[in-house]
Amino acid sequence: MTGEGSESLPVLLVEDDVEERWLLSEILRSRGHTVTVCESAEAGLDAYREGLHPLVVLDWVLPGLSGRDFLRAARSLPHGKRSVIVVVTGKEEPTVLREVLDAGADDYVAKPVDQGLLNVRLTIAEREVRAARERERAESELGRKRREIQALFENLDEVFFSVDVLEEELIQISPAVRKVLGYDATELKEDPALWRRLLLPEGRQVLDRVSDLPDGESLTLEHSIDGSATPGTRWIEVHLKPERNVDGRVVRLDGIASDVSERKRSQEELASRNRELLTLHRISELTLEAKSLEQAYDDILGEISRATGFPIAAIETYDSVRERMVISAARGIPLPEDGSSLAIPLSETLTGLVIRTGRPVVESDARTRSEHGHRALRKLDLRTYLSFPMYVSGEVTGALTLAHQEVVPTDARLVRWGGSLANYLATFIDRKRSQEALRESEHRYRALAERLQEANQELETFAYSVSHDLRAPLRTMQGFAHTLLSRFGDELPEEGRDYLRRIVASGRQSEELIRDLLTYSRLSFEEVQVRPVDLNEVVQRTLEQLEADLRDAGARVEVEEDLPRVQGHSSTLIQVLSNLASNGIKFVPEGRKVRLNIHQEDRGNRVRLWVEDNGIGIPEDQQEKVFDAFERLTQTQTLPGTGIGLAIVRRGMERVGGTAGVQSTPGEGSRFWIELPKA
Ligand code: ADP
Repeated sequence: MTGEGSESLPVLLVEDDVEERWLLSEILRSRGHTVTVCESAEAGLDAYREGLHPLVVLDWVLPGLSGRDFLRAARSLPHGKRSVIVVVTGKEEPTVLREVLDAGADDYVAKPVDQGLLNVRLTIAEREVRAARERERAESELGRKRREIQALFENLDEVFFSVDVLEEELIQISPAVRKVLGYDATELKEDPALWRRLLLPEGRQVLDRVSDLPDGESLTLEHSIDGSATPGTRWIEVHLKPERNVDGRVVRLDGIASDVSERKRSQEELASRNRELLTLHRISELTLEAKSLEQAYDDILGEISRATGFPIAAIETYDSVRERMVISAARGIPLPEDGSSLAIPLSETLTGLVIRTGRPVVESDARTRSEHGHRALRKLDLRTYLSFPMYVSGEVTGALTLAHQEVVPTDARLVRWGGSLANYLATFIDRKRSQEALRESEHRYRALAERLQEANQELETFAYSVSHDLRAPLRTMQGFAHTLLSRFGDELPEEGRDYLRRIVASGRQSEELIRDLLTYSRLSFEEVQVRPVDLNEVVQRTLEQLEADLRDAGARVEVEEDLPRVQGHSSTLIQVLSNLASNGIKFVPEGRKVRLNIHQEDRGNRVRLWVEDNGIGIPEDQQEKVFDAFERLTQTQTLPGTGIGLAIVRRGMERVGGTAGVQSTPGEGSRFWIELPKA
């Protein structure tokens, strides 16, 4: 039979008697075990030494070494206590059994071996082996857990500790103390002054504060330590929880201490970032409100000086022509009283280095530097001197300088901040300068435009009155020329009559010119009231005006019916249309029959009225030019005209809020258009 739940064990059997040995080994094998059989205690010990046999069945009486000798020797081995040893003994007397058990056996079986009894004993032994193995496993598991917890405690960023208040003794402290505070637990326990400084910096006061705490509450303290054991300043946060006795007196403090330097640093970093942003914000407000650069400089420097804690602050502009820095705005540096600026040669100021290298200068004792040589600067007795380049489009155009008569700390943060302030100022100054320049040129432009307009007005008035005044003497001249020709023509030779005819023709031409000029200038300054106008009527009246010319030219005129109403000015539009139509009659090649087509094009809320002819056309590059005054194409120079007709068209359309233009194919004809809003 096999034992309940029995597992196969390596079993050592030590028995000198052949039969017993056979019997015992059979029984053990039948229980599923692997049996190492030895005939003597010596052989048994050799086998036992080699490996662990969790179960040993041992004969008590042996030749040579006895069962007792085996027991003693086996138990003294490192693994000797971990085996269950069952002794097989011949005598079942109490003294012998006592002896067996005292020698270290776990159990015994009497000879002659009763199989049933032996199996019971073996079952018990196997159970013990199992129990022992489980115990071992549990112990090693416990050990592992203990080590894990130990490691955890050591790696924690928090130190747990307890202080006996009455004895003023640090009772316990977790191993993380080495990592967090830089000391060992024992070191601390032995040095009350040290642990008090590190864990309870306020000393007795802490006790008072803790005593006053309501039940269940804890106290949180924060302090800095300049540890010799750890580099630099560290911030330690301590939570303290009091334990009271029955009288309510605090007898013990349980605490957790942690290093919060990182958090503190990020908080400080955040706070200074906020301060920096706030300053930039204030500066940008000041710059927006400022009317001029000078006014802004003063306010900005005040703000910068206040925010950075530097009583001396200056904006220096680099004068590249004369190789010097010009300080036109400063806090803490006296400037000339006449309002002019302080100019310092590049070689006499540390700011010169900023200009040369394009990098900031950070100096803790300016007095020792030869570059800091200018009298005005020397007088200030400056120690800390910071100067940051101001870049505009990649070039250093000046510097922002901060200075102090004391040696004050200048950390990387301050340098970074100074740099961004300088950059901001550079951008601002650049923008402000271009704004001012823009405003200046706008101002000049407007003044110029006004003067130009005035001059134009004068010129137009002058042209108008000149044309007007020319008319009367011209008419008189023409009248006399006519009279001369009709009354004394016969008395003159042909040549004389020819001269007279030319005078009359030139007179007519001059009159036309004067008429056109007058029309043109009248259009410029006469008031034109735009109102709804019927285009049908405008076209009709234009054609009536031109009736004789059209007839003479034998022109065929097609007009679209039902033209719309537009916003315009009737007589101006008639003038415009009649100019276009008469050009259409005039500029036609010899022998071609004149055809005019007047029609509309709907362009949403505007209307185009087209005047198309089949004349000589206008080359592409001349199509805009023909609208200028006195502009006449070469091929038409011999034809009558003043060159003002189309200028009148442009000006007229401008005055009524419309536009005019032309499309043309030379040789085939021109398509002039005017465009107006619908009424
Ligand atoms: P004018 O007709 O008195 O010469 P305009 O200002 O009316 O002056 O026209 C300027 C020039 O534009 C004309 O001299 C002519 O060369 C050209 N032009 C105007 N209208 C036409 C047209 N319909 N066809 C061809 N050329 C034209």
